[in-house]
Amino acid sequence: MERLSLVGAYRELIARGMSQGTSGNVSVRQRDAMLITPSGLPAARMRAADIVEMDLAGEGEWHGRAKPSSEWRMHRDIYLARPEVGAVVHAHPPYATALAMTRRPIPAAHYMVAAFGGAEVPCAPYAMFGTAALSRVAVEALAGRTACLLANHGCLALGRDLAEAMACAVELETLAQHYLLSLAVGPVLLSKREISDALAGFAAYRGGAKPAKAKRARRA
Ligand code: 13P
Ligand code: ZN
Repeated sequence: MERLSLVGAYRELIARGMSQGTSGNVSVRQRDAMLITPSGLPAARMRAADIVEMDLAGEGEWHGRAKPSSEWRMHRDIYLARPEVGAVVHAHPPYATALAMTRRPIPAAHYMVAAFGGAEVPCAPYAMFGTAALSRVAVEALAGRTACLLANHGCLALGRDLAEAMACAVELETLAQHYLLSLAVGPVLLSKREISDALAGFAAYRGGAKPAKAKRARRA
C-alpha cells in the first residue's frame, strides 16, 4: 500500500511539473527502514514493485528489484537527524530551482516563509548530486525547517507523512513563484517583528492552539 502511494506521489510530482524526466525522488520512513523511489526510472514505467527498501542503519544495501534513488543517503540522513520526519520529497520544480540557481535563500517577502519554520527558506551550498557532501549540507540547511533549496539543483520538502511532505513541496514552489514574480518590481520584506509574529502564528495554527486563549491562560 505504501509502495503504491510512493509511486502515486512521484507520478504527481511529474504530472504537476514539479520534476521532469527522472529527476526528483520520494521516500517514507518505516520503523528502522525507509521506502524510496528507484533511480532513473520514468514515472510512467514505475511500479510498486520498483520501490526499494533500505535499512536506516545501512550504508547503501537495499532490498528490491530496482536500484535505489541516487539520493538515498540524503533521505536516510534526514530520517536519522529528524525523528519527527516521516516522509521526504526531493524535486526540481521550476521556480524553486530557478531561485536555487542564484544560491540565495528566499527572504521574508511573504508571511508563508514562516510556514517552513524560520524567517527565510535557506539554500544549501552546492554539492554534487548523490554525494555524502550534498547530504551533509542539506541536513544542515534543514535544521529547524521543513524545506530548503539546494544550490544549482532543486529543493527538499519534509513532512510527518507523505501527504504533508507533498503539500510542503507544493507550498514551497508556490512561494518561490510569488517571490520570483515580485523580483520584477522589488519586494518589500517583512520586518523582524512581522515575521516573528507569523512564526508564532504558524506554531499555534499547526499546533491547533488559539493564540488569544493561550495568552489568557498564561496571565491566569
Ligand atoms: P534518481 O533518479 O537517482 O532518484 O535521481 C534524481 C535526482 O533528482 C538526483 O538529484
Ligand atoms: Zn535532484
